[in-house]
Amino acid sequence: MNLVIKGGRVVDPANGVDKVLDVYLSDGKIAALGNVPSNPDHTIDATGLVVVPGLVDMHVHLREPGNEEEETIASGAESASAGGITSCACMPNTEPAIDNEAAAEFVILQSRRAGRSNVFPIGAVTKGRKGQQLAEMGGLVRGGAVAFSDDGDPVANAELLRRALLYAKMFDKPVINHCENKELAERGVMNAGMVSMILGLPGMSSASEEIMVARDLALAEITGGSLHIAHVSTAGSVELIRTAKARGIRVSCEAAPHHFTLTDKCVETFDPNYKVNPPLRTAADVEAIKEGLADGTIDAIASDHAPHTQEEKDVEFSFAPFGIIGMETLLPLTYTELVLPGVISLSRCVELVSTNPAKILRLSKGTLSPGADADITIIDTQTQWEIDVSKFRSKSRNCPFHGCKVHGRVGYTIVSGKVVFDADVESATWETFP
Ligand SMILES: [Zn+2]
Ligand SMILES: [Zn+2]
Repeated sequence: MNLVIKGGRVVDPANGVDKVLDVYLSDGKIAALGNVPSNPDHTIDATGLVVVPGLVDMHVHLREPGNEEEETIASGAESASAGGITSCACMPNTEPAIDNEAAAEFVILQSRRAGRSNVFPIGAVTKGRKGQQLAEMGGLVRGGAVAFSDDGDPVANAELLRRALLYAKMFDKPVINHCENKELAERGVMNAGMVSMILGLPGMSSASEEIMVARDLALAEITGGSLHIAHVSTAGSVELIRTAKARGIRVSCEAAPHHFTLTDKCVETFDPNYKVNPPLRTAADVEAIKEGLADGTIDAIASDHAPHTQEEKDVEFSFAPFGIIGMETLLPLTYTELVLPGVISLSRCVELVSTNPAKILRLSKGTLSPGADADITIIDTQTQWEIDVSKFRSKSRNCPFHGCKVHGRVGYTIVSGKVVFDADVESATWETFP
């Protein structure tokens, strides 16, 4: 089967392409740009739309196994498709944790069964994510793990993280750390600052993040391992990483859309959908994140999609679990907050949501080079629309952006040359294509 995407503005920073071109997909691969056959099996008219390599969200939580009422790998893959995300990488803080070969294989199997966007497992750094002993990292790689992380929690023991960086280096995989000094952040439910003081809520200081970022950068330097810092949220972290990169330390990092769109003032509403970890910070931190995204200090945008049921979130702010869902709002928030006002170019946006995360995870994606996997997202950037959580494909609804007016709507999501999401059809499937 082959497919031609006609007349769209193709933006592919990996190849320095930004112009109106036809794209030819054949047998699940990119066959050609520009030079397309006259009688393809199927055609998508992309006139006025933007055609980019499929989005790669390198930080999501899919709750299977253990908490399937919040999200499953299938519902997560569906949510990804609706968000224009053709590949996502799921964190291992499931029950039980993804800390062995069979558990990683299970994720890959469920992803294939779902037949939507690709889901790649991230293996735990330590057994059971308990922070005591290293997990069987070789087995995890054999099972398909693309990175290692104990996310949800930090790897608190510096010696364990040092060894993990060394082992992961042998497999050419990154170690992703959730940087939070638990002693400093203890009992905190929001950013420590003026707002937490006024509200009388216990705070988590910027230092609780930055101390561990600094420690991890030192460990990356002495091991030469590949360190990735998850969800950078403070101006101090951005500055530490900027300096480390200038010194040649091997480090990459990501920011989540809520950390460049919202501040701790949102917590004044006491809406538990503003409770995330790391917490929403100050306006100055938001500005620093934006600068980091623009100047190359921050490499990727990842959602940290963290589903929770209504019952769990429908409690007093202090008792609610941390986290919001984000795969279906990642692109519109990034486009509206960063591209529209000119903070970054559209091409830089594609680097942040596709090219770079694919590179960090060593996936043959994030590019429209002939021969690459035919994973493509087609975006309508012209029309303004309103985020409606009731339309989400995720099983959960914990999202603070309901009712927001945004640009950057996903028109089609194509995985391995097949349409898995079509905004005009309630639910596109491989069978109903085109
Ligand atoms: Zn985390
Ligand atoms: Zn996370």
